[in-house]
Amino acid sequence: MSNLETNLAAWRRHLTRWQKSGVQNHIAGQNLPARSGASFANTTPVDNSWLCDVARSGPEDIDAAARAARDAFAPWAALPGKQRRDLLHAIADAIEARAEEIALLEAMDTGQSLRFMAKAALRGAANFRFYADKAPEARDGKSLFAPDQTNITSRVPLGPVGVITPWNTPFMLSTWKIAPALAAGCTIVHKPAELSPITAALLVEIAEAAGLPPGVWNVVNGMGEEAGRALTEHPLIRAIAFVGESATGSLIMAQGAPTLKRVHLELGGKNPVIVFADADLDRAAEATVFMIYSLNGERCTSSSRLLVEASIHDAFTTKIAEKAAGIRVGHPLDPATVIGPLIAPEHQAKVLYYFDRARAEGATIATGGHKIGDAGCYVAPTLFTNATNDMAIAREEIFGPVLTAIPFADEAQALSIANDTPYGLAAYLWTNDLTRAMRMTDALQAGMIWVNSENRRHLPTPFGGMGASGLGRDGGDWSFDFYMETKNVAFDTAGATAPKLGG
Ligand code: NAD
Repeated sequence: MSNLETNLAAWRRHLTRWQKSGVQNHIAGQNLPARSGASFANTTPVDNSWLCDVARSGPEDIDAAARAARDAFAPWAALPGKQRRDLLHAIADAIEARAEEIALLEAMDTGQSLRFMAKAALRGAANFRFYADKAPEARDGKSLFAPDQTNITSRVPLGPVGVITPWNTPFMLSTWKIAPALAAGCTIVHKPAELSPITAALLVEIAEAAGLPPGVWNVVNGMGEEAGRALTEHPLIRAIAFVGESATGSLIMAQGAPTLKRVHLELGGKNPVIVFADADLDRAAEATVFMIYSLNGERCTSSSRLLVEASIHDAFTTKIAEKAAGIRVGHPLDPATVIGPLIAPEHQAKVLYYFDRARAEGATIATGGHKIGDAGCYVAPTLFTNATNDMAIAREEIFGPVLTAIPFADEAQALSIANDTPYGLAAYLWTNDLTRAMRMTDALQAGMIWVNSENRRHLPTPFGGMGASGLGRDGGDWSFDFYMETKNVAFDTAGATAPKLGG
């Protein structure tokens, strides 16, 4: 039976090698320091102690990685889809075999609890399996018949692509971007988040040990404005798949514009969960609690605004407050912990600022609203009630275990509050009225809507947001559309002569 002490001992064993070697770059199959020799310290939010040093790379490291990805592209793109499938399955097998190591390192690097990181590691393997099975069909096209021509439409891999990922659930999110890129036949330069870089280094090591050729997947660590920026500007890189903040997404578009980068942006959210009085309120309460307090609330699809019908507002929010107050906050490696420390002291300070802001703006703190302890970046699961949609806590992405409840009078008002945001990532709707659900889902501005459930991902479906929440979709075949060029070839079947231009 695992407990905190045994998990800590296992984690220390896995960490030792990273403390000795540091997290280096991985270029053309080799672990390398930044060419400048620069590095930065990576700490754990559990107590802000040092974990390891990390390469602080610049444009010269990105250039080396982009060239490696360019050199590896032709043979990788030419590999038959079935061989890519087998290789991606081998990577999934290897992730599963090392899932505990991944989960332990990730939990201590991010502060997210082991119970969720264990699932996230396995979800990473599932992402590889899903795209492994799709690899043989990536190049499939279609034939479009016309009376005087037959068209053959096919897809070809785009080339070397850049992947830039955030610090929340970094392992799982990286696999969600990298697996389809590899299945499509692209090669990769990955820039992980500076706050949680360890599992990205582990992941590429796992992939190459499973047989991935050197140079197909390169990892360059460093700061966003340095290594990240250089990646978005590099002329050999054909596209950037980015997950992170909305403001960074807009920078990435601008930085990529001179080299006409294709960009896919998965950005922030301020997602509503809308609860009508006719819903199954017990299930709605469980799902609401899960969607805001799991993963520390550091989750792009977290339901951070609770819009609840006025007639049930008090009873429902009381139920949520009781459940939130009972959530176990603690060390991320304690199997009983649900909420661990937030990613970093700066982020904890940001969340605490919103507690003060909520008080100043006149919201009620039904539970939480304070930090926990002095060591580490812990905050209490929090519920604000009596909020209005013009308050900062209702408009801005807090990215913590913080829920803002707003009452609504009727369907029209629920819709108007839900859509009164620049974001449009996800929405959750709870009602047993089918026609209302149809009306509401049609009018809600969100890329993904779940009716009567929490976020349950079905991997073939599209994932992505509207407005400030992003551009483009991935999941299923949508990922291939991003990582591939579509090409049409028209065969003449009429034998007609072209129109004469004089002469
Ligand atoms: P961030 O935007 O600060 O950083 C994300 C990545 O971008 C990091 O690797 C960073 O180094 C890099 N970066 C920063 N500036 C850059 C620049 N100028 N050029 C190139 N790269 C640059 O985001 P974060 O704080 O790490 O992550 C949290 C955010 O991510 C939240 O807003 C969250 O909602 C969002 N997110 C969205 C999704 C989604 O699917 N929509 C999923 C997870 C997280």
